[in-house]
Amino acid sequence: MKTKNIAIYIHIPFCISKCNYCGFYSLPVENACSVLSGNLPSRQKRDIPKDNLSGYAGAVIREFDILNERYGGIFGSNAISLYFGGGTPSLMAADFFERIIGYINKNFSFSSGAEITVEVNPESGDYAKFRALKDMGVNRISIGAQSFNDEVLKFAGRVHAGRDISKCYENARKVGFDNISLDIIMGLPKQSLDILDSDLTAVKGLDPEHISAYMLSIEKGTVFYDQLKKLAEFKPPEKISDVNRNINENKCIECIDGDYSNFYKRNSRCLSNIYNSNSFDENLRNGNLLDDKFDDDDKIAEYFIRCAEFLTGNDYDHYEISNFAKKKRQSRHNLTYWQRGEYIGLGPSASSFLRLSPDAEIRKTNVADLELYLGRISNYEEPVGYIETLTKKDMINEEIFLSLRTALGIKKKRLAEITRQDVVKDLIKHGFLSLSDSKNDSSNLETDPLRRKRKKNYIPICQEKSVILTLKGMMVSNEIFVKLLK
Ligand code: SF4
Repeated sequence: MKTKNIAIYIHIPFCISKCNYCGFYSLPVENACSVLSGNLPSRQKRDIPKDNLSGYAGAVIREFDILNERYGGIFGSNAISLYFGGGTPSLMAADFFERIIGYINKNFSFSSGAEITVEVNPESGDYAKFRALKDMGVNRISIGAQSFNDEVLKFAGRVHAGRDISKCYENARKVGFDNISLDIIMGLPKQSLDILDSDLTAVKGLDPEHISAYMLSIEKGTVFYDQLKKLAEFKPPEKISDVNRNINENKCIECIDGDYSNFYKRNSRCLSNIYNSNSFDENLRNGNLLDDKFDDDDKIAEYFIRCAEFLTGNDYDHYEISNFAKKKRQSRHNLTYWQRGEYIGLGPSASSFLRLSPDAEIRKTNVADLELYLGRISNYEEPVGYIETLTKKDMINEEIFLSLRTALGIKKKRLAEITRQDVVKDLIKHGFLSLSDSKNDSSNLETDPLRRKRKKNYIPICQEKSVILTLKGMMVSNEIFVKLLK
């Protein structure tokens, strides 16, 4: 029987503090330490340094055993990638990574060229840590830069400053990492096109092999979401124009409604200033402030186009909606997600996708609660919070929207078999989808006004006769997928 390929994700749910936009599961370090020192599995307990997070390794290792016992055939697989994500993996001591990598080495075989990534936050990327990671086989570093502008970073609740990014990056290079990715976010409060331009220039100056550029979305459970919700609940006692006048005069809304005292005082400024007064006015009137995006979608779309044009004009392939890479530097781990390859995720809130037989696929997500996770692990139970067996329809839908995320797209013939052709034609007609008839053929992209302007190397390498998202389509990809799904 053929040995299966598998990607492995380890979630590190610890951060110095919570960023205002972050919807990932993570705990501030102090809380995590107190949970860890009280709840780790007894078998591992003696290994836990009281205020050191490396004891978390014991729980993760035990989860590997539970998974293998529960699903069988996991040990012995080819590990094609290993990804330590978070949270903030770079908070962990080197022995954490050593124990996990050692355990994987013992129970899986790393395939040749396996990608081993550690996410690093700029403030915790020191030379010694990079040295240790490199020595134990880590070959890719992903740095959470987000922006190089100190005001944007501060407003986003990041703990690092712009200069920390370059220092961290240089440390990684000095140690010899030749595969570095930088994350940036577009649409953060206080950002402007000028700031984005200088962020992109700074990125170019560093010259990483890979860039992930995300459009900000405001998710439930984040500081930004709560603030927007309060704004939406706010009933101005006077006319909207009066609210705007106060905003324009930089006054806190507190000035006109005492019940909301102090809630704008975070960062000593009125949150409403992050919106221009017109869109605020309009959204307030339409009750749209709970939208999952910033109110000014046009602005974010402008950022996205600017960013895509800049990066593709500087030798990066736009190989997935939010991802750009130099030649052969696409993230192997993330490609597994988009290509529906199998992966296991360990740690609280981590997800797995397993193909138990050709027709039986499951997706599952662990509980997003460290204490609960450790308790389950301690009882030798699978720490699963949600599990589903995919139906045929689910599989087809996933095939459509995951394939379309990437520049390879989906074969035209295959799409014709699994979705409505009138919808596809309509989306092509309106410039959201495009046809690619041969490898590197740009002529088909001329129907896309946004792509027409791009430089030659902007054009993604497409499979023969494929359907791909245009730039315009990428900006509203979720809506496009909903139209195409069965
Ligand atoms: S460091 Fe990353 S994971 Fe942690 S709170 Fe900030 S964005 Fe979220």
